[in-house]
Amino acid sequence: MSLDFGPAVALSCRECGARYPLGPSFACQECFGPLEAAYDFGEVTRAQIESGPANIWRYRSLLPVPADVIDKPNMNPGWTKLVKAGNLGRQLGIKSLYVKDDSGNPTHSFKDRVVAMAVEAARNFGFHTLSCSSTGNLAGAVTAAAARAGLEACVFIPANLEQAKIAMARVFGGRLIGIDGTYDEVNRFCSELIGDPMGDKWGFVNVNLRPYYAEGSKTLAYEIAEQLGWRLPEQIIIPIASGSQLTKIDKGFKELVRLGLVEDTPYKIFGAQAAGCSPVSAAYKAGHDVVQPVKPDTIAKSLAIGNPADGPYVLDIARRTGGGVEDVTDDEIVAAMRLLASTEGIFAETAGGVTVGVLKKLTESGRLDPEAETVVLNTGDGLKTLDVLSDEDTRPTAVIRPSLDAFRATV
Ligand SMILES: *Cc1c(COP(=O)(O)O)cnc(C)c1O
Ligand SMILES: [Zn+2]
Repeated sequence: MSLDFGPAVALSCRECGARYPLGPSFACQECFGPLEAAYDFGEVTRAQIESGPANIWRYRSLLPVPADVIDKPNMNPGWTKLVKAGNLGRQLGIKSLYVKDDSGNPTHSFKDRVVAMAVEAARNFGFHTLSCSSTGNLAGAVTAAAARAGLEACVFIPANLEQAKIAMARVFGGRLIGIDGTYDEVNRFCSELIGDPMGDKWGFVNVNLRPYYAEGSKTLAYEIAEQLGWRLPEQIIIPIASGSQLTKIDKGFKELVRLGLVEDTPYKIFGAQAAGCSPVSAAYKAGHDVVQPVKPDTIAKSLAIGNPADGPYVLDIARRTGGGVEDVTDDEIVAAMRLLASTEGIFAETAGGVTVGVLKKLTESGRLDPEAETVVLNTGDGLKTLDVLSDEDTRPTAVIRPSLDAFRATV
């Protein structure tokens, strides 16, 4: 088998730096640390990127994918809008605010970015089935991508997920298995399945393909910088589930600086969690380096990971960049969803309520610089979490006969 991962040349251990050949492995044999893709980048120019397609593949020379990835059937996610949020900014007193709106991806969440990497890895390794443990959005992204790529899909979720996320995963075909347990239990189950003959030739996008999968989040960093005019933002607010997305956005910014694609200007990274699942925020506030697992209880189900694998790295990044980690309650999440919708016309899922809620909290407590250019992420679509709105919200404000008199009487 000859592997083609483009500029990625090896896997390296994040803890001890040991290097391994590219393969479907995810843990260091020396120290059990997580493996990540290591690159040998050639020359990469802005002009070369700008002449690429309006999706994540414009950055393919920075990703673990073959150059001919653009000719293969896949979901082509990315290049989502960076919305100048003047109304929300004015309301909160932030001079220059943007929303990076990843609900615009093919299956309406940021997960299409990471799954696109995993599909290429599955092709490289000759896997016939794409699988995952999911908090909801990943399941739909995997079944859709598998359908397009001609792979089988079998995905695992906690059984109590939002109806829309279940439907979103089922409509593309494949098998969707609900597990009676939390996400962390689903994830542990998948780790067992990998070692079993039943899971042979299966690519678990966020387990044995994780080193490739995770790199997809770097494209958020590349897009934000390019859309700002090849500049890094000064402050960015990112949701935390496993913490992978946050750590890879930091990696993406650093690569852009190293390759001379942007100036080396300081940026602060802030992580956002729901209070009902806030192990990283709790560790940050307590000044700890390790994250104590929790049992999640929040409406922000897409972020409900009680034992986040990248938690300690998130703490490092928040502290190194001068950012922080904060959490908001379920009520604050719904209020923030309404605030974003009513000021900017963006209907975010609960995860977007978490980031906008944290944005508001950090601003009001003086921890964000209102003069600094700020980006807040919305990573999913509000139509997937309709159940958190009140019954009243899913009905018209009034139902009347089609007559002017009837309308006059209601206004
Ligand atoms: C998965 C997910 C995230 C981030 O997940 P990480 O595990 O931290 O990378 C953020 N928002 C939504 C909506 C998600 O589904
Ligand atoms: Zn190691």
